[in-house]
Amino acid sequence: MLIFGKRCYTNNNGGYDMKENVWKTYTSEDVNRLNTICDDYRKFLSVSKIEREAVRNSIELAREHGFHDLEEYIESGRELHIGDKVYVNNRGKALALFVIGQEDIVNGMNILGAHIDSPRLDLKANPLYEEKEFAYFDTHYYGGIKKYQWVTLPLALHGVVALKNGEVIPVCIGEEESDPVVGITDLLPHLGQEQMKKEASKVIEGEQLDVLIGSMPLKGEEKDAVKKNVLEILKNRYGIEEDDFLSAEIEVVPAGKARDFGLDRSMIMGYGQDDKVCAYASLRAFLEAGYCKRTISCILVDKEEIGSVGATGMESSFYENAVMEICQLLGHKELTATSRCLSHSYMLSSDVNAAYDPLYSDVMDARNSSFFNYGVVFCKYTGSRGKSGSNDANAEFIAKIRAIMDDHKVHFQISELGKVDIGGGGTIAFILANRNVNVIDCGVGVLSMHAPWEVTSKSDIYEAYKCYVAFLQNA
Ligand code: MN
Ligand code: MN
Repeated sequence: MLIFGKRCYTNNNGGYDMKENVWKTYTSEDVNRLNTICDDYRKFLSVSKIEREAVRNSIELAREHGFHDLEEYIESGRELHIGDKVYVNNRGKALALFVIGQEDIVNGMNILGAHIDSPRLDLKANPLYEEKEFAYFDTHYYGGIKKYQWVTLPLALHGVVALKNGEVIPVCIGEEESDPVVGITDLLPHLGQEQMKKEASKVIEGEQLDVLIGSMPLKGEEKDAVKKNVLEILKNRYGIEEDDFLSAEIEVVPAGKARDFGLDRSMIMGYGQDDKVCAYASLRAFLEAGYCKRTISCILVDKEEIGSVGATGMESSFYENAVMEICQLLGHKELTATSRCLSHSYMLSSDVNAAYDPLYSDVMDARNSSFFNYGVVFCKYTGSRGKSGSNDANAEFIAKIRAIMDDHKVHFQISELGKVDIGGGGTIAFILANRNVNVIDCGVGVLSMHAPWEVTSKSDIYEAYKCYVAFLQNA
């Protein structure tokens, strides 16, 4: 059925056969460890649906592992030393973490990177309106979505409202059992004959993605009474006024927790696994790797889904600035320290890969696809068509990574994203590569990528975790 030739790697000294579905190779200890990591991941995913929540929860984990805000060092003028663990929080939406290694930092770092934003619907700046005694939130979608997938789902509201007095109010409605949910309606099939003739991109259009939030009028009000009632509820619960939406960031996401998937519980279904699956596996490996020969770093960034733009995206200078601060605090006052450090650094830039789906085999090149349960995925290049927008990793760097993976019995596969002419995708890899870091794309295969509920395989998450630990300790 499937062609296995190109995804078989055999370690010639250990005789470690990677041709098998990795579940067949696991001991009971492997399965226990895998289940611990994946249970923790599922819980993290359920409470980290948006970038701000992912940063907050990551900082909490980091602090439990003895990390301190780099600002504490800068403010007190303290120097950094071997074994010190620090993080840089960029506006609550991006995070960079470092553990100072034994070797001089100008010899380079081992860096893990992933993104923590996911496709969703954002509320517009003037979101609230009433139509025929229904109250709605008007939205603007973020990232690449199939709009028709977002109707008739229970949806939740996550984000913040920033007030003029400087207070920032966190919002989360729709996740507790006792919370209401909101959602977008669709046409009944009985009246959908014309709709069903449209092409899929037109069945539901962007301006139709308005979220129904209420239908009960406020007593004693004539005009827009339903809208006024909603405003009353928001005022009572959060102390916000309609104008405060002007300085809010509210994201509409699928409501509910991530779940074990499959009767055999071998997979996980959850919202935002692109790219929280790589973000969590990277962070966990980073926190558990201990202090290494080289300085190690983990980057979790925002805005990947819209091109890594803005102050909290990977294109921002925040990471380079953080490295500069760290070089200074380690006593490197020379201007070339940061550039020398980066150009000697290695990076696994992780993002999800489109796993082979037998139901959609016509868009896949089976010999160059990733498969569930065949391990962590490396991509020499991503991009689209003629590799446009890609980081094309050096063969020599890939050889180094292959050797580390084989030596540490990590199951891996090398893939592309779909057939050459069909489409493609990009990641944050090229951005650090532009700073002259040795970067390769890597990650976990996913089914139904960018859908409200995405599916990953637990064994691939476990192999990604093992890959990251091996890389941090040995690259
Ligand atoms: Mn991604
Ligand atoms: Mn994506």
